Amino acid sequence: SVSSPGRESDRRPTALSVLEAVFGLPSFRGAQEEIVRHVTDGGNCLVLMPTGGGKSLCYQLPALLRDGCGIVVSPLIALMRDQVEGLRDAGVRAAVLNSTLTFDEAAAVERQLVAGELDLLYVAPERLLTPRCLALLERARLALFAVDEAHCVSQWGHDFRPEYIGLSVLAERFPTVPRIALTATADARTRTEIVERLGLAGAPMFVASFDRPNIRYEIVEKTSPQRQLEAFIADRHAGEAGIVYCLSRGKVEDTAAALVRAGIPALPYHAGLDAAVRARHQDRFVNQDGVVIVATIAFGMGIDKPDVRFVAHLDLPKSIEAYYQETGRAGRDGKPAEAWMAYGLSDIVQQRRMIDESTGSDAFKRVSREKLEALVGLAETAGCRRAHLLGYFGERAGATCGNCDNCLAPPRQWDGSVAAQKLLSCAYRTGQRFGVAHLIDVLLGRPTERVQSLQHDTLSVFGIGGEMTEKQWRAVARQLVALGHLRPDAEAYGGLRLTDTARSVLKGETRVMLREQADTRRARRDRARR
Ligand code: ADP
Ligand code: ZN
Repeated sequence: SVSSPGRESDRRPTALSVLEAVFGLPSFRGAQEEIVRHVTDGGNCLVLMPTGGGKSLCYQLPALLRDGCGIVVSPLIALMRDQVEGLRDAGVRAAVLNSTLTFDEAAAVERQLVAGELDLLYVAPERLLTPRCLALLERARLALFAVDEAHCVSQWGHDFRPEYIGLSVLAERFPTVPRIALTATADARTRTEIVERLGLAGAPMFVASFDRPNIRYEIVEKTSPQRQLEAFIADRHAGEAGIVYCLSRGKVEDTAAALVRAGIPALPYHAGLDAAVRARHQDRFVNQDGVVIVATIAFGMGIDKPDVRFVAHLDLPKSIEAYYQETGRAGRDGKPAEAWMAYGLSDIVQQRRMIDESTGSDAFKRVSREKLEALVGLAETAGCRRAHLLGYFGERAGATCGNCDNCLAPPRQWDGSVAAQKLLSCAYRTGQRFGVAHLIDVLLGRPTERVQSLQHDTLSVFGIGGEMTEKQWRAVARQLVALGHLRPDAEAYGGLRLTDTARSVLKGETRVMLREQADTRRARRDRARR
């Protein structure tokens, strides 16, 4: 609470005066003012705002305007420290309570809290939930609880943090202290979970537009990923900072090394690296110009680097939420930035396998598959990527944005029904046990050793696909998986199995529209540019 002589309400600082005096800002942005008023008046709420949208003010200001200390729950230790430093510079009495403090330091903060000498206290969730800390909070005067990165309560989510589950205790033990949950990424299901866990039923939800108009989205077919990535960076982002996401540590290392060989200053970042090495690489990325960081998905949460010009995915994320969050690290300064992803059938197969082989419950697997399918749908859409992305978060957008690959060069659709029938028959006749490479060998009539030993050269489908190239067949297979007519089977090591809907395709009852491939489209676009 901002020190004000006398506590009569008419002498209290207004939201706007504190905004100006403490934060040096002339006006609110978007729904900030409404949120601040709501929370200051003691209401609970859920705030959904994209990264960089200005979520912090939504709880910092009410904490200053209300009596007592605002408790901020955040999983990001680095970010906590930055925020607290910034607040202290502005004259706010802010502190952190987490595992980086010594016993004496922590004890001092606790004393300040109980003595009413703090405006804002940032606490890691596992710390907050200790009996000791909860007892301490009961002795203190509390302005509010802010739960940052609230999507971490979602068990289905990509950022699930078990310790967030325990936060339901806040509503139970401190029912009169307002709770504000904030996140930059939450689909409908995740929102429901946040509301349930944090006891926000009936509380308003403030949803800002999730659109990041300065980010250009592009999703290309993966052919030779390393070369594609190098070309993407060299042609469009030479000398600029960017993040490249890979699924595995090994691939992070290989990719970073290959980029360096190609003359691009790249550094690896993953959990297997020494903490000191990680800190050094992160520091160089943040403070030097034009560094590319190659990382596993863990990287980026809480890193505040506004001029990231591109985010590239060499592997498919797990969900649209994850994709949105990771791509959202590009262009936080509002200047043009790109989100580029290369993906192929093997990505879908790999992600499916990871889900199938995970130790999660059946419900977990089902939801994970649905989330993956939604992302594949985004990757395969012939329509505007942005409209699709925003639609997934429940936001209606214009049909075209003019700033994604599909809007810039609309993909042509073609009737792939016959091709689909050929490929599905081939999978069926060979016993639904084989991956795409073998199926294509059969379709193209290649008498490989494997084909011969399995006697697949004697099948009626042998050689019936000569009208298309291997690459084209791969695209057909991938789209059939994306459309749900074929499914990689975990028990058959990713062998492609027909689904129920495949039958109607085979019978000619379902027409299969496929999209023309990106390389053809690029050629067309390049021609158009000339
Ligand atoms: P988020 O937590 O949603 O990612 P932040 O709270 O860190 O976003 O805010 C992002 C940036 O926007 C910060 O630099 C902040 O100072 C700025 N900002 C927030 N609110 C306003 C405002 N009303 N006017 C101008 N700048 C703002
Ligand atoms: Zn678009």
